[in-house]
Amino acid sequence: MSEKHITVKEVTLNNNCPECYNNKGLILSFQQQFIETRFYKSITAKVNHKLACKVCNTTIYPVQWNEDIERVVAYQEKAFTPKNPSTYLKKISWVIIIIVLVLALSLTILVFYPK
Ligand SMILES: [Zn+2]
Repeated sequence: MSEKHITVKEVTLNNNCPECYNNKGLILSFQQQFIETRFYKSITAKVNHKLACKVCNTTIYPVQWNEDIERVVAYQEKAFTPKNPSTYLKKISWVIIIIVLVLALSLTILVFYPK
């Protein structure tokens, strides 16, 4: 089973970077947890957000945020709509389901209509 976080939305902020003071590099990205197993793929409701500066290539952790950044992030969080959690069954799961159904059906037929 693998767990990934996929970026579903990216917003460029006009705030100054706490590291390099540039106001063109801050990018807030929203990531949703994505689980993949042999049988299914699933997008969960778990959302993370991450602030990074592409000018100085630094991840800006919440401890470094100033009031302005906090306000903008809070606003963007409200404006963000996550993807609906959903699960997709892979082909192998459908094959197993069909085999089980066919077996159950044959069993039912054997029980109710013995030769
Ligand atoms: Zn920076």
